[in-house]
Amino acid sequence: MSNRKRHWIERMATSFGVIPDLQLGNGENALPVLNQASLSTSPPPERWDDWVEYEAQDWPRQVKKEYQIVPTTCFNCESACGLLGFVDKATGEVRKFEGNPYHPGSRGRNCAKGPATINQIHDTDRILYPMKRKGERGAGTWERVSWDSVLDDIAGRIAKALREKRNNEVVYHVGRPGHENYIERVLQSWGVDGHNSHTNICSAGARFGYAIWHGFDRPSPDHANASFILLISAHLESGHYFNPHAQRIIEGKLKGAKLCVLDPRLSNTASAADYWLPTQPGSEAAVLLAIAKILLDENKFNQQFVHDWVNWQTYLKELHPTKPLTFEVFVNELRNELAEFTPEFAAAESGVTVEQVVTVAHEVARAGTRLATHNWRAAASGNLGGWAVARALHFLNVLTGSVGTIGGTSPSGWSKVKPTVFDTPPAQKFWNELHFPKEFPLAHYEMSFLLPHFLKEGGRGHLDTYFTRVFNPVWSYPDGFSWIEMLSDPNKIGMHIALTPTWNETAYFADYVLPMGHASERHDFNSYETDSGRWIAFRQPILREAARRRGQNVQFTYETNPGEVWEEDEFWIELSWRIDPTGDLGVREHFLSPYRPNEKITIDEYYRFIFEKTPGLPEKAATEGMTPLDYMRRYGAFLLEEGAYEKHLSPLAEEQLAGAEINANSGLITKNNKTLGVHVAGNSVVGFNSPSRKQEIYSPTMRDWGWPEFATPVYIRSHVHQIQIDRDRNEFVLAPTFRLPTLIHSRSGNAKWLTEISNRNPLWIHASDADLVGVKSDGLVRVTTEIGYFVDRIWITEGIKPGIVACSHHLGRWRREQDPLANRWAMNLVDITKSDGVWKMRLKQGIQPYASADHDSSRIFWKDGGVHQNLTFPVQPDPISGMHCWHQKVRVELAQAEDQYGDVSVDINKAHDVYRRWMAMTRPAPGPNNLRRPLWLNRPLRPTDETFYFDS
Ligand code: SF4
Repeated sequence: MSNRKRHWIERMATSFGVIPDLQLGNGENALPVLNQASLSTSPPPERWDDWVEYEAQDWPRQVKKEYQIVPTTCFNCESACGLLGFVDKATGEVRKFEGNPYHPGSRGRNCAKGPATINQIHDTDRILYPMKRKGERGAGTWERVSWDSVLDDIAGRIAKALREKRNNEVVYHVGRPGHENYIERVLQSWGVDGHNSHTNICSAGARFGYAIWHGFDRPSPDHANASFILLISAHLESGHYFNPHAQRIIEGKLKGAKLCVLDPRLSNTASAADYWLPTQPGSEAAVLLAIAKILLDENKFNQQFVHDWVNWQTYLKELHPTKPLTFEVFVNELRNELAEFTPEFAAAESGVTVEQVVTVAHEVARAGTRLATHNWRAAASGNLGGWAVARALHFLNVLTGSVGTIGGTSPSGWSKVKPTVFDTPPAQKFWNELHFPKEFPLAHYEMSFLLPHFLKEGGRGHLDTYFTRVFNPVWSYPDGFSWIEMLSDPNKIGMHIALTPTWNETAYFADYVLPMGHASERHDFNSYETDSGRWIAFRQPILREAARRRGQNVQFTYETNPGEVWEEDEFWIELSWRIDPTGDLGVREHFLSPYRPNEKITIDEYYRFIFEKTPGLPEKAATEGMTPLDYMRRYGAFLLEEGAYEKHLSPLAEEQLAGAEINANSGLITKNNKTLGVHVAGNSVVGFNSPSRKQEIYSPTMRDWGWPEFATPVYIRSHVHQIQIDRDRNEFVLAPTFRLPTLIHSRSGNAKWLTEISNRNPLWIHASDADLVGVKSDGLVRVTTEIGYFVDRIWITEGIKPGIVACSHHLGRWRREQDPLANRWAMNLVDITKSDGVWKMRLKQGIQPYASADHDSSRIFWKDGGVHQNLTFPVQPDPISGMHCWHQKVRVELAQAEDQYGDVSVDINKAHDVYRRWMAMTRPAPGPNNLRRPLWLNRPLRPTDETFYFDS
């Protein structure tokens, strides 16, 4: 019962009836007031089955509401933060989501997108039943069909392809994965090289920059314990782990850490920084190498770490073979190599001051082993040679010895947990040239954004059965009209199946649209490098778990989902079972229960097996008298390790070393032609994942694969370098990559709260540039790229570097008149036409209020849904990492008389010409020994080693 003392103002206001009497409920049955002093507002787990709180909508009346609380994880970005779903016991509906304090990554906190999951599951426009195209592809006519007919149709088609050895014609293309190894296991059970992903329009650039150092392709910065945090570009908004990293950066700052952000735009993160360095896009590596030079010249680097863990001997042997093989000579030669990267040079390239470069260098030196760094998307994804930015950034971690330390930056793999699954099918014996073509032997992920051009050219393959999964390339990829042309052509794509929770621009061009569950309607295993620990989390269907706790027997998740919404895990099991009804294709054997011989596996059994094999989880569960699966159902997450530091120093076990050989020169420890680790400073340890097991300042891989000039950390001038930009012609660099922290690529059009916060994407332009262009605030401009143009309003600001314009990439969603009503909080109605190879889009209607079961839909007050800029970007593949280089050279001018807001125009032939020009920059395989790709460099869905050779 509350005995809160009332302020006299509240008493007066109450007595005059200005506010309701908030003490009315103070009777025997009143609920306790939460203890605000502890800042704890989360219900304790022992009360999750019978939680009672007042109904907010009945305020000021104190009406009690009974809830059952079930944990799951958010699916609105990769972080998989913990959510608690509140199930209303009276209606059986999920009412809201709050943070799960038992989740080690998010610790009870979420960004705006987490609780907005409630909007998505109650979206009035959501797809509830399987739909099949009726007319031509893209004609917009659909009919509801049964899951049985869908499964049989698709299964028959795949079975036929497998029997006819057309294994490369079955492809699964993923937007947001959100699970670990589930689909890879399915695809390998089918024996297809059919994994395609969105990574090369997202993060492949940075990944390659990290991988070429040490084999791990992502950083895991320990922000909370850092002394200095160095971020390339907006990072938090632009990249992953928004909420888990943000809370730890703040924690680090509260403990005294300083924050530096390199970004031409004053992002939310930059605005909280101690040092904002508005660098010219693509110049970041010049600044970072200048910092490296200062560390070396002033002897402020970690000599022990560099001596022990850098392959400096290889550097000397390759670049200075006549010089003595000593560490001192190496350091001198490295200083010489970096001589051109003076602070003055960095300042001239980047536009920041010499003093800023020197000051940040000294902060980096002071931080030493407590330097946390991160680069995601943005610079590494924007520029030709963007991968070299991540490589230069990691160079600073190497020099300061902050690789894997407390407060430093660990390799991603150390902070992740891979699930142990009940069955591992053999690697496929196929190599799909559509995904890993010979022109890009080092591409870090599949060359997915070139698919329309590959199929247009012909000769690389054909797609018979094409799944898109939570994936919207027509909208989110560059050159979307080329995607529309490809998807509309049945000779290029035999059958397109869109697995999606919500209609999107790509699903309009599908043959089947199959509704899949949102975060609280599906199972997934999650583990991500959000911090220095290692954790796992369980995304589970909330209503299914609530029903199970009530004693209801639920066989499939769709039984408790709305309409006929399935979850993918069960979809793949059912589909695989039907592909191979007799078992002769060898598919069915990979879907048998590990607990019930010869029976089809259930989804509960799949996760039961994983959790039983998770180190420490069975013991922890036993302390509470639970099975591991029940523990995960109850708490939703489990922490395996508090701080995963210095794993490279893990000693090799004696039985591993028995019979192993140590190379006297390199220290490499091998056994049976396999590298086990490395001998360093008298110890036999596992080391890193590079071929040398060390940090590779000299990369023999770059040399062997045709790029000897990039064998060491380098600065590569971007395709949008200043010398390419003619300011007298009103040319600018367009930075189109920045994300808004409140939106989710193309998946938040169904979240009313998020769309209410962010619903337009004007072009950011500096005040001085607006004067030059002659445009006033909110004025219309035409932004011309190499293949077309878009028309947008401008936003004049001091928060962007002069010479740069920027446009957030989430907005400008659209549907045509014939398309199903969908995402009406965010989708414009447009007209699309094509004439003489030129596609045009014109806005017919912006966002309108509409009547629905959700009364908020009639209260929509915004009219602007933004502009779709990505359509006007040509594909620009980096010849090494394969990353699409997002930044564009554009001309910004006042809109012309015929222009209207939202107009888009694209010349599809020019788009293909630009594709060919960038392809000409590649240096194709084969590499050594007729290889398609270095054997050590991993790739998604790795096939057998034999397939890595051209003559296999
Ligand atoms: S950071 Fe936000 S969107 Fe991402 S998982 Fe966490 S709550 Fe969801």
